[in-house]
Amino acid sequence: MSSSVALRLPSIDGLLRHPACVPLAERYGRDSLLTGLRQLLDELRPGVLSGQLAAVEIGPEVLAGRVGERLAQQQRSQVRRVFNLTGTVLHTNLGRALLPEEAIEAVQMAARYPLNLEFDLASGKRGDRDDLIEGLIRELTGAEAVTVVNNNAAAVLLTLNSLGARKEGIISRGELIEIGGAFRIPDIMARAGVRLHEVGTTNRTHARDYQAAISPRSGLIMRVHASNYSIEGFTARVPTAELAELAHAHGLPLLEDLGSGSLLDLTRWGLPAEPTVRQALLDGADIVTFSGDKLLGGPQAGLIVGRKELIAKIKKNPLKRALRVDKLTLAALEAVLGLYRDPDRLAERLPSLRLLTRPQAEIFAQALRLQPLLAEILGPAWQVSAVEALGMIGSGSQPVARLPSAALCCRPQVSKRWRGRYLLNLDAALRGLPIPVLGRIGDDALWLDLRQLDDEPAWLAQLPQLQVDR
Ligand SMILES: *Cc1c(COP(=O)(O)O)cnc(C)c1O
Repeated sequence: MSSSVALRLPSIDGLLRHPACVPLAERYGRDSLLTGLRQLLDELRPGVLSGQLAAVEIGPEVLAGRVGERLAQQQRSQVRRVFNLTGTVLHTNLGRALLPEEAIEAVQMAARYPLNLEFDLASGKRGDRDDLIEGLIRELTGAEAVTVVNNNAAAVLLTLNSLGARKEGIISRGELIEIGGAFRIPDIMARAGVRLHEVGTTNRTHARDYQAAISPRSGLIMRVHASNYSIEGFTARVPTAELAELAHAHGLPLLEDLGSGSLLDLTRWGLPAEPTVRQALLDGADIVTFSGDKLLGGPQAGLIVGRKELIAKIKKNPLKRALRVDKLTLAALEAVLGLYRDPDRLAERLPSLRLLTRPQAEIFAQALRLQPLLAEILGPAWQVSAVEALGMIGSGSQPVARLPSAALCCRPQVSKRWRGRYLLNLDAALRGLPIPVLGRIGDDALWLDLRQLDDEPAWLAQLPQLQVDR
């Protein structure tokens, strides 16, 4: 090949007719192919003009191959499945709870067909979407009435605004918390139009502190589950029952934001105790709010339960319309709640509970089984061991509690100076797999907590594609 002969890019028309491109047009559509080819040729033109590209680099097969890769990349959806091996089960950034099959079927039905979302089949008249799940939630929590919104943050905002706007909301200083992603109780109160009246101190708040704050300006008393932090040592907190008595003596409603909350006592499965919605209501809370996709194990939603007249007031707020749940969520929520009617089988049927209660011995056995396979793929630069590890529930449930688990611990066998780079490269390579694998780096190692490795065949199948840069 002589460099003195000027190279020319193939013509678009010629490429479109080329046998290497014809299947691409069929697969991705002629317009997408045309756009892809034009872009590629535009990018290559300077290289051709300056003589930096060789003829083989712009042959039709090569160009078709490159365009095909790009089109495949573009077609791949941005919303992608991943393996959550971080050790945090209800991981907010990874979509929290996984839905049970019953809920997935319900979502498919709701997506595919018209449904009685706001239509009362008995009377033939307009219905209310909350009615579809009200009976179940009343049965499971003992609440008088229910309304459902987009998430618990919305539930708190809507409740505060409906019951406390232009009045004071009394809350302990120990409960003025921030939950990830800029959800701060003082800010939410302000946005809801409720004037914050904080009482007590960070570690100790007494009944007399609440008592002293009550005035004609008071609109409600609020209690917030501390979710993602814990106060230990010299502490004092007024029991909900006592606080409810105080609130009611002054004609004020008591709101309790449980955060995760739980419909059942989790200690029966060996998990750390979380306050239940039923108990909060029994203790006298007038409204209780909690998430659908935390410990409940369902879709993203915010549940507001409690006294009938207060729920009626909340439902009349125009904000309710802006915060309401969609049909897919409602369908999934009903199916998940239905599983709670049979607590004995709940841990088999509800994925989040099944994963949270997987015995450590079982996870460790899995780690022992997978260790040689990963070690073989990573080669001598890495030491891979099956080790015990501690995971977390996540989503602000029991922040200090740890779940005894097991992990594959990958340690680079290189001098300290290179370890950081090796770890980042392995982390990136795992994220680059067709189903990205997300682990956790800490203590000079990369940890893959196997509590949530359900689909072992899919994980193993892609392992040979792992390419770690050195
Ligand atoms: C998680 C949490 C929220 C927010 O719930 P989302 O469902 O994420 O909107 C509010 N309050 C508390 C106490 C929480 O733990």
